[in-house]
Amino acid sequence: MHNLSVAQISQGLSKGEFSSVEITQHFLDRIHQLDSSINAYITKLDESALAAAQQADKQIAAGQANPLTGIPFAHKDIFCAQGVKTTCGSRMLENFISPYDATVVANLKQAGAICLGKTNMDEFAMGSSTETSYFGKTMNPWDLETVPGGSSGGSAAAVAARLAPIATATDTGGSIRQPASLCGITGLKPTYGRVSRWGMIAFASSMDQAGPMGKSAEDCALLLQAMASFDSKDSTSIDHLVPDYSANLNAPLEGLRVGVPKEFFEQGLDPQIAAQVHNALAEYEKLGATLIDIELPNSKLAVPTYYVLAPAEASANLSRFDGVRYGHRCENPSDLMDMYCRSREEGFGEEVKRRIMIGTYVLSAGYYDAYFRKAQQVRRLIKNDFDRAFEKVDIIAGPTCPSTAFKFGAKTDNPVEMYLEDIYTISVNLAGLPGMSLPCGQIDVMPVGLQLIGKHFDESLILNAAHMFQQATDWHTLAPAFADNTSEANGGAS
Ligand code: GLN
Repeated sequence: MHNLSVAQISQGLSKGEFSSVEITQHFLDRIHQLDSSINAYITKLDESALAAAQQADKQIAAGQANPLTGIPFAHKDIFCAQGVKTTCGSRMLENFISPYDATVVANLKQAGAICLGKTNMDEFAMGSSTETSYFGKTMNPWDLETVPGGSSGGSAAAVAARLAPIATATDTGGSIRQPASLCGITGLKPTYGRVSRWGMIAFASSMDQAGPMGKSAEDCALLLQAMASFDSKDSTSIDHLVPDYSANLNAPLEGLRVGVPKEFFEQGLDPQIAAQVHNALAEYEKLGATLIDIELPNSKLAVPTYYVLAPAEASANLSRFDGVRYGHRCENPSDLMDMYCRSREEGFGEEVKRRIMIGTYVLSAGYYDAYFRKAQQVRRLIKNDFDRAFEKVDIIAGPTCPSTAFKFGAKTDNPVEMYLEDIYTISVNLAGLPGMSLPCGQIDVMPVGLQLIGKHFDESLILNAAHMFQQATDWHTLAPAFADNTSEANGGAS
């Protein structure tokens, strides 16, 4: 049951082959049995999930089902959910019970989906390995000694281990695509402004964007459908029609112009990954697409630009955690200043403090022009590169990550090496474009991801391109042996 696609679950529910309560219980049982080895979940929501599943069964019986009615899923623990612990992976919010629902949470409730629990993540979404979580690291189901990627490592691992059919996630610099790549699943970061950020705990507000994770592009299309909406409560939400993301999945790719950026294949990329990505590109040619060499000359500046802008925004966003209104407060403060300082000292982990220090520095008088303003200017150059490329091509394709999943601790002592994990994903956030990652190969059983990048609001096209690839190959059907996929675990594909 845990290998079914969303459409298959939905069909099973409507035909009465099983109830929402049964499939929800099935996933909850798996979580209780297996999650001690993965640590994908911070909070398990058995009681509310089963109550919601009962409601869903009534709705289905009454013939009022939506595509997600009764479908279990997991939320990244960055989304505020009313009455539910919402930690953002931080000690600062260890005991925070949200008084309201994020728009994404409200949208999924409205759609009738069943939330199994809240997933683990790097603290305040800062990281690429889920090792910075206050709640312990998450294991990659393909090899329990390696990281699942981050910051949405809990959501990615949950889907890969078949502890949830689909999950929400967020991506500020790569946090949907990189863990999707490392865990062998499909994930989509939508256009900036497509999904409401209201109630999603802010990291770098000009780049944060929520999106779906699933086993396939088809599942991601269904989840995105429910997540996306215009929201007047988010001033950066864009009032742009939400198309039917499932409608064009099967459109032929004949004549599709696929841009291949030469900068994405230069030094730093594992040659075995380059080979797998080239195989995937050849598959696109077979599907009728044309490959076109393009250049994104400023993409090499994306990581340094991001690591000025994202910490700057984070330092401002995280100033609200002062121990006064909510969040961690230190014991017995001697005065107000002591309370502020010790609450933040105790509540935040090392990486979060590093970002606050960098951000405060680059925004301070005397350095603002040299760093922050300069980075904003480079951000524009990076966006201009994409605009120029998209005059010649319809989508851009390349690797998602420079390597497959790495061992725990391999990059924790060297922040810059960790930051380079996002070398191919970050420019997409700086430009506000939609991007996705889908499995396109394996190296020694570890998954490799292919990244597809689209024009603003071209989610339908990249989903279509991903779906057609998944119709022609079966990388996305492979599950880790851990998930006990009897048919195809660890097999070859294509
Ligand atoms: N790895 C990047 C960072 O640490 C991106 C994180 C994200 O997308 N949330 O900032």
